[in-house]
Amino acid sequence: MAEKACKNCNRIVEGDVCPVCKKSSFSNEWRGYVIILNPEESQIAERMGVDTPGSYALRVR
Ligand SMILES: [Zn+2]
Repeated sequence: MAEKACKNCNRIVEGDVCPVCKKSSFSNEWRGYVIILNPEESQIAERMGVDTPGSYALRVR
């Protein structure tokens, strides 16, 4: 899988810098693909500490 996940915020990232937290520490070992559209209304987003809509990995190693 070409996509990688940000180790800091779990965001699925295609470029070299995470658009959410601006870090560049990624992992190819991640599981679970979640698309969060409305972070304010999502329990998953709340649990993950996500407040920016987008695609995220449930688990990042
Ligand atoms: Zn990030």
